[in-house]
Amino acid sequence: MNTLLPTTIVGSLPKPSWLSEPEKLWSPWKLHDGELREGKLDAQTLAVHDQSRAGLDIISDGEQTRQHFVTTFIEHLGGVDFDRRETVRIRDRYDASVPTVVGPVSREESVFAEDAKRLRADTDRPIKWALPGPMTMIDTLYDDHYRSREQLAWEFATILNQEAKDLEAAGVDIIQIDEPAFNVFFDELKDWGVAALERATEGLNCKTAVHICYGYGIKANTDWKATLGAEWRQYEESFPLLQQSSIDIVSLESHNSRVPVEVIELLRGKTVMLGAIDVAGDAIETPEEVAATLRSALPFVDEDKLYASGNCGMAPLARGVARQKMVALAEGAGLLRRELS
Ligand SMILES: [Zn+2]
Repeated sequence: MNTLLPTTIVGSLPKPSWLSEPEKLWSPWKLHDGELREGKLDAQTLAVHDQSRAGLDIISDGEQTRQHFVTTFIEHLGGVDFDRRETVRIRDRYDASVPTVVGPVSREESVFAEDAKRLRADTDRPIKWALPGPMTMIDTLYDDHYRSREQLAWEFATILNQEAKDLEAAGVDIIQIDEPAFNVFFDELKDWGVAALERATEGLNCKTAVHICYGYGIKANTDWKATLGAEWRQYEESFPLLQQSSIDIVSLESHNSRVPVEVIELLRGKTVMLGAIDVAGDAIETPEEVAATLRSALPFVDEDKLYASGNCGMAPLARGVARQKMVALAEGAGLLRRELS
């Protein structure tokens, strides 16, 4: 990016109410078959419009074609039985009924390449596409086939790499892997987590990013955050490893969080995508607040390596709130950009 402090959303945006019920995760689709396909892509075009009008520099699909950032990808893979469900604990935080891995996992065809081509056609700005990370994927499944979290993660990493190459061919400029599980499973992170992430992004010529956060602004996550104490130092586990990795960009949560901003120093040399928008509340940040959050990071990251973003996806928010937060993000980054130049 030639622009200083380029702005982008992390991934998801709320969907239009004609497509699925808003302010709800896993909200069922309201359309079916051909109408659903057309509706999803129309919603994606609207999401591009909203981001462009807000003044964001890097455009995402807003995850308008997915019901959920992890589940939808897995639904397109072979080897997973969605009718056979078991209850497991997600990220050590809440119980959920999840599908079962019953055989070798496989990808018959690209899951998102057609959606990405539409995104490419809808904007001239750089585009970013998010995929769920291997560790986050295995954490939403019951495995009755490999019976090894590491082996299943490795299989998913191989599949993700195929998908990432299709997305790159569709014109995606930044491929982002979402790994909120990196803030929870520190032993696995060190044993194979970062290696699986590098496997998923191996051989790509486009930029690669990893997004690690404390989750959507839903109750299970805000309750968990309340137990983490005065300072959230979870990033100290992953950042030194990521600093040594092949990943170009690291996306983290910052505004209204208890993450000590100096942890960013552990990433020195990498591009940092800083969360300057809170996604756990409806209050709209002022541009000055956004600029202040971004400014606080400058002692720890070179200014040409700082991107401005949200803390996480905005799917659970009201549409109007998400729009205003995107405007605040663009205006806040603009304030600091003028100050620096
Ligand atoms: Zn997130």
